[in-house]
Amino acid sequence: MKYVLVTGGVVSGLGKGVTASSIGVLLKACGLRVTAIKIDPYLNTDAGTMSPFEQGEVFVLDDGGEVNLDLGNYERFLNIKLTRDNNITTGKIYQFVIDKERKGDYLGKTVQVVPHITNAIQEWIERVAKIPVDGSEGPADVCIIELGGTIGTTIRHNDSGILDAGDIESMPFIEALGQFSYRVGPGNFCLVHVSLVPVLDAVGEQKTKPTQHSVRSLRGLGLMPNILACRSTKPLDENIKEKLSQFCHIPVANIITLNDVTNIWHIPLLLREQKAHEAFIKLLKLQGIAKEPMLDEWAIRARIYDALHDPVRIAMVGKYTSLSDSYISVLKALSHASIACQKKLVVDWVPSSDLEDSTKAEAPDLYRAAWRRLRGADGILVPGGFGDRGVEGKILAVKYARENNVPFLGICLGMQIAVIEFARSVMNLEDANSTEFDPDTTNPCIVLMPEGCKTHLGGTMRLGSRRTYFEVADSKAAKLYGNVSFVDERHRHRYEVNPDMITEFEKAGLAFVGKDETKRRMEIVELHTHPYFIGVQFHPEFKSRPGKPSALFSGLVGAACGQLELLLQNPSQWHLNKETYNKQWLLTHAVPPEREFEGLTTSNGFSPTQSHRNRNSKKPATRLSYRNIRSSGNGMHV
Ligand code: GLN
Repeated sequence: MKYVLVTGGVVSGLGKGVTASSIGVLLKACGLRVTAIKIDPYLNTDAGTMSPFEQGEVFVLDDGGEVNLDLGNYERFLNIKLTRDNNITTGKIYQFVIDKERKGDYLGKTVQVVPHITNAIQEWIERVAKIPVDGSEGPADVCIIELGGTIGTTIRHNDSGILDAGDIESMPFIEALGQFSYRVGPGNFCLVHVSLVPVLDAVGEQKTKPTQHSVRSLRGLGLMPNILACRSTKPLDENIKEKLSQFCHIPVANIITLNDVTNIWHIPLLLREQKAHEAFIKLLKLQGIAKEPMLDEWAIRARIYDALHDPVRIAMVGKYTSLSDSYISVLKALSHASIACQKKLVVDWVPSSDLEDSTKAEAPDLYRAAWRRLRGADGILVPGGFGDRGVEGKILAVKYARENNVPFLGICLGMQIAVIEFARSVMNLEDANSTEFDPDTTNPCIVLMPEGCKTHLGGTMRLGSRRTYFEVADSKAAKLYGNVSFVDERHRHRYEVNPDMITEFEKAGLAFVGKDETKRRMEIVELHTHPYFIGVQFHPEFKSRPGKPSALFSGLVGAACGQLELLLQNPSQWHLNKETYNKQWLLTHAVPPEREFEGLTTSNGFSPTQSHRNRNSKKPATRLSYRNIRSSGNGMHV
């Protein structure tokens, strides 16, 4: 097994996760099998109990693991299925060591950070790296390990004067990885340090000092970088590379520029362009095993994305609209579907509480803006969520979509909202609600699941991959999934549609077209009288892939741009046709290659907006990032 460790320096939010995933893509394109581990040095056992304002979206895996969103990047980029153990946290490691101590496994010894915690980290990495994640048997060839956080020089205080704990938390991992690199030896381990080379606007000069300092502190901690991946607005000048090489003791050939690009799909191409694969092959002694990287599919997708101009507008009606990381998988799934439809995705953020009457009185401008955005949309999406803030606004958005025949997709909470709205407006059950928001409602149409637990919130939801059986074969959802009899999708919920009210709902015209194996748990609702109105209890966004968009997202985007009929006639053929069409289309519309490196600023319309009621979110709305690309800093040093 070969290991590639990716660390970050200078500032957070450099796109370390995207870089690490792109390295994986490049190595996979060389014919190697690749797996990935993300290390998050916080004390939480997993991401499950954290608000999306903390670390962004909680990504859910097949096995029910609630993990850091970077695992979503790895799954999408590498088309793999990871396990909960692929996300290591301080919490998990300490829990493991303390459990062992309680069992008496340390045979009377004093248990310490070094060697017990550091050994546990190394053992964990070696064990997890061997788990097959790509559907083939046996361990992968290469394991990418991304260390969350930023390696700094000193322990410092953040803006609020609070000691920034990032450096302290990372220490056991850095020590463990230092030991690990020594143990597995050169030829089996290499370190990529992602750094920043800022450009001073006045003179346009690329400054190397921050990178020099960062590399020095990394060395001081016992980690020797082999490859430097330098984020910058434009490609590094040759003399800058030479300077970095001299001061950081890294060959020029191993200094890679990650300049601004127009879309995320360019990053693996950028790496290949600079022959990064040759550096990896040499460092990891893979000569004779790795072949020349084939990235045709990525090149086509990157170019198509850049050249799309005909917009499809999707309104995202949510609570965490001030931080696009909160809905990153939903955005990616929308983007995959839009590329397949040859449309330029424009996401219009609608903070749901701004749609409510109280905002009309307190901040009329925001109220008007929110409604203008909603009315201007070709499709409306209400994503998952927790807690009652903004729920009434979401109900208004669903009502608008239902009454005005606007294509609608409700995900998890979005589906529950659709059921509540239907109960209130169509069945005249005025106080219909979820017991999550109104425990005393006389019409509880969404209720806590019998196995649900309200006292312990960590890991107690219905989580991970579960099966949904189609009940009605000619439903749009069933057709979009290709008329299969069941689908496996990922879940994360504590509440469900009240099974005792199903007959009432069905009589009133709401169709439950997908159910679980007991037929008591509703998974998919649909309104047959509406052009596209679908709600799902699961999260289809987690399994969407660039080359294989999620069926229901394709349905939403397809309906929003008038392609639904075509899609429904033959969904699988549709993708095939589109793929062939894409290639044809590319021949006539190709973007000149040199544009790839200009750092163009094509807006994809992702402009997160803060709601009137939530102006004090912890993270800033925009962070340093590749243009249009989510940045994956873990927020230790903002
Ligand atoms: N809060 C709702 C529940 O627990 C919805 C959860 C979600 O949207 N992921 O059932």
